[in-house]
Amino acid sequence: MFNLILFGPPGSGKGTQSIKIAEKYNFAHISTGDIFRNEIKNKTELGLRVQGIIESGELVPDELLIELLQNAMRKFHGKAGFVLDGFPRTCQQAKDLDDLLDKSLDCVSLVLALEVNEEEVISRLLKRAQEQGRKDDTEDVIRNRMKVYHHQTTPLEEFYSKQGKFESLHGVGSIDDIFENLCRVIDKHLA
Ligand code: AMP
Repeated sequence: MFNLILFGPPGSGKGTQSIKIAEKYNFAHISTGDIFRNEIKNKTELGLRVQGIIESGELVPDELLIELLQNAMRKFHGKAGFVLDGFPRTCQQAKDLDDLLDKSLDCVSLVLALEVNEEEVISRLLKRAQEQGRKDDTEDVIRNRMKVYHHQTTPLEEFYSKQGKFESLHGVGSIDDIFENLCRVIDKHLA
């Protein structure tokens, strides 16, 4: 199994690129944000529990994540690997993921980060707010999500660099050009 984490701030294009990667390499695409949005839409117990947290731009507590991820992973069969989009977001989640994969003698293969500067990301998210009306895409919430990203998620860069698994790429440009660059790195690791 090739287990890829697509890393980067909100609005860096992780969602768009993960879907394309999953399609090309026959990977299962798992977006924890999409899973939560679906739970909220269906008004499930979990959805009601996390709605306020997500709408404020904070992170859902770590203990809710690993089981959610495990269930999502179980659903896929016959895939060549996973592309994780929006997970892990804290060092605790990264450790939980290592433990989970370790149980099946598996591991994270590669963490690919999309580098996009903060102003670009904020302007992309504001545009998405107008187009899609996501409740967590208002300017205040966007700024909070960026703050949360810097405090809680960027330490993962060091976590995975220490494991020799972290690579970053310039994330500004056309979707196709960025995709091509991502594929080049993935192909190098698959070879
Ligand atoms: P995303 O679509 O990945 O930006 O996720 C939207 C929101 O869902 C985030 O701002 C968090 O509130 C929540 N969320 C998604 N993934 C995670 C995660 N791995 N850990 C904690 N909260 C998460």
